[in-house]
Amino acid sequence: MKYTYKRGAYWLFVYLFLALIPLIVAISGSTPGNRGFWTELGVAFGFIGFGMLCLQFLFSGRFRKIAPTYGMDNLLQFHREIGILAFLFILAHPLLLLIVDFEFISFIDPKVNALRAISLIFVTIAIILVLASSIWRTAFGLDYEKWRLLHGFLSLAVIFIGTVHSLQVSYYLDPMWKKSAIVLLFLFYGYLVIHTRLTRPWLNRKKPYKVTGVARERGDSWTIKVKPEKHRRVQFICGQFVWLTIGKTPFSLQQHPFTIASSTSDKELSFTSKESGDFTSTWKDIKPGTMVYLEGPFGSFVPERGKNLFLVMGGIGITPAMAMLRSMKDNKDPRQAVLIYANSEWEDVTFREELMELSRKINLKLIHLLEKPPENWEGESGLVSRELLQKYLPENPEHFMYFICGPKPLMDISELALRDLGIDWRLIYTERFEII
Ligand SMILES: Cc1cc2nc3c(=O)[nH]c(=O)nc-3n(C[C@H](O)[C@H](O)[C@H](O)COP(=O)(O)OP(=O)(O)OC[C@H]3O[C@@H](n4cnc5c(N)ncnc54)[C@H](O)[C@@H]3O)c2cc1C
Repeated sequence: MKYTYKRGAYWLFVYLFLALIPLIVAISGSTPGNRGFWTELGVAFGFIGFGMLCLQFLFSGRFRKIAPTYGMDNLLQFHREIGILAFLFILAHPLLLLIVDFEFISFIDPKVNALRAISLIFVTIAIILVLASSIWRTAFGLDYEKWRLLHGFLSLAVIFIGTVHSLQVSYYLDPMWKKSAIVLLFLFYGYLVIHTRLTRPWLNRKKPYKVTGVARERGDSWTIKVKPEKHRRVQFICGQFVWLTIGKTPFSLQQHPFTIASSTSDKELSFTSKESGDFTSTWKDIKPGTMVYLEGPFGSFVPERGKNLFLVMGGIGITPAMAMLRSMKDNKDPRQAVLIYANSEWEDVTFREELMELSRKINLKLIHLLEKPPENWEGESGLVSRELLQKYLPENPEHFMYFICGPKPLMDISELALRDLGIDWRLIYTERFEII
């Protein structure tokens, strides 16, 4: 999907409009008297924060119509940063009101209205918890599934209480149509959560896949192959990923994103996973015949027709490149591909033998980069650097698309270096495996 300024401006406009809907509803039609600039600003902050927070459910990366425009990576980055901004707006709402008029403290006085006070105190704690657990999840030792549950539940609770609070105060929402609009908004965003967590798995239950094989790979990795059970397999573009659930039911907290590593021409789909935690370490015990459910495909880490490929991959970040290169081989695709593949040790280079074979069959220049090379190693060694990328940069860089996937330092260095070397940012695509 091509990035264009026009497309970006369009989505920015749509975003601003959607985020401002609660405020627009509040100030439309008849409005009560002005209580002074700072008070009204404090109230406006509440409506803006509420609108932005609701939109977070739409920009969570789970809606295929939205993700391709900016790419999954950028979308999740946006989700993170805009989430912090939304919560700051919401926190600024009571703070500013209290600074202007301390009488507003009655809103959190249990003697005045116990339920309201408890709800608003809960919202404040919930906001702080959502922010802190998202920024410091790993430092807190919170595992991903528990974090996701907490994140979704608390965020939904905040917008529910926000809706009730705005209806209760009702200063700006007096006519019935305004109240109805705010309730409809809440119901719509609430439904998005239900759609992702319940409706989609419910629809998916009729499209199971069965594991046909499990194979060990170099680098503590395992490949599973799956085939559709009495339905057509999902159509995908190489480089895309799916949300994968392994087991009897698609309703599971253990739903993880995995790149489809097989060629687009294969009847079966293959996924390769590196052991890194509780879910991925179960792959070695998966038995043929196990049921698997897929949701997707998602992602815009995909090559365009006619463009050559410059791939900078590290470790298990090789999976999208495998899909691209395997598809090139199967489709007898004459395009040029350059692969810089960074690993720690030679013995751990996942798909080492297959890559060698691919480099004989397609127009692939394969460069292995090892952090700890064996004795007499004649290839590249060390870490990815600007100098290394420059050395292998093609002579006609504008005819290439640049894909980066691997550990965070490799991605950060490569992206900056490529831009520094004059590559147009619109040609550089990144895929981060660590969402948070
Ligand atoms: C677009 C995309 C494609 C991916 N493709 C591959 C692939 O082809 N091969 C591969 O080995 N890995 C891939 N991953 C990473 C893979 O999803 C995680 O390694 C896996 O979810 C880890 O789960 P765990 O419980 O074993 O490890 P944990 O130790 O619990 O998690 C390790 C890290 O993985 C991420 N993670 C964990 N659970 C989830 C989840 N349910 N949803 C999203 N992220 C999660 C978190 O960032 C976490 O810090 C991909 C990730 C993304 C975002």
